[in-house]
Amino acid sequence: MSPSPADLARTALRRLGEERLPPTPEHFARLYYEAAGSAPPVASTLPSPSQGGASSSELVEQLDALVGQIVATSDNLANGIDHGSARMEASLDDLVADAPTADTAQLLQTIVATAKDMHVTLKASHAELIKTRDSLAEIKTELAESRKLLGQDALTGTENRRAMDAILTRALAHARRESEPLSVAMVDLDHFKLINDTYGHAAGDAALVHLTRLAKSMLRGHDAFIRYGGEEFVLVLPETALEGAVYVAGRLRALLHKTPLVYAGKSIAMAFSAGVATLKDEDTEGSLLRRADAALYDAKRGGRDRVIAGQ
Ligand code: GH3
Ligand code: MG
Ligand code: MG
Repeated sequence: MSPSPADLARTALRRLGEERLPPTPEHFARLYYEAAGSAPPVASTLPSPSQGGASSSELVEQLDALVGQIVATSDNLANGIDHGSARMEASLDDLVADAPTADTAQLLQTIVATAKDMHVTLKASHAELIKTRDSLAEIKTELAESRKLLGQDALTGTENRRAMDAILTRALAHARRESEPLSVAMVDLDHFKLINDTYGHAAGDAALVHLTRLAKSMLRGHDAFIRYGGEEFVLVLPETALEGAVYVAGRLRALLHKTPLVYAGKSIAMAFSAGVATLKDEDTEGSLLRRADAALYDAKRGGRDRVIAGQ
């Protein structure tokens, strides 16, 4: 039996992860058709990335929207065929009952038989459509799951840089809509290389998980703690002005001091530096992050293990 569209999509999604390819519709389509053992259609119906190159999460969004459209269309078709079939069957029975002559009855019988064949074919097509629709629904669920995985850092389980664009865009929009403050903090572990060098890479990994756990234990539900890369994290604090954000980052710093990492029976002290910035009218996501990064640089230059408020 040939694999179902859902099986093919599952294989394509798995291979996307294995090959560490960005989840663009083009990559997904290529792996899908490779899994199916057929050539992709010449003129792809998949949406093309928006001008200037869309982010990965935007591309997955587009693919998801496309699948959603197909689901809706096939659903309408399936319902239409079912409705039409039932009406046709009822009216044919009425016609045979009212036939004026034997010849007409004979003719009608033939038409009835042909129509019933058609009805059977339609029913079969309907069943196929329903199957396709269910497969698409499965694909959609799997896309949502893979999207979640794609937005998550594999080591710490927290959001990764890929997810950050959407988080920041949403946070900026919310802040502007509600006239609420918004602050971010760029957090970088101090002398992290030394932890790796002294205790081994696995201890370094444990240190990153440790900091993430501590952050999650003290942050509010709509705050985000994003692994920006390596030993750098970004705190996104909606509805928080500069002083509040400095206070939150300071609390995390104090919590980390108080709670060293315990690894292989050893207590390993950790510290971080942080730069905080708060949203201004003229800011973009990029300029806000850059100010936090500049403040982080000042914190490092000033001797590390401190939180600095940016301009
Ligand atoms: P600074 O105080 O100036 O920030 O010094 P640092 O040692 O923290 O910074 P540096 O940039 O010199 O080193 C960062 C180290 O983080 C180097 C890299 O090997 C390590 N690192 C990055 N990602 C990971 C990871 O996922 N696991 C582990 N164990 N180490 C990582
Ligand atoms: Mg560091
Ligand atoms: Mg760093």
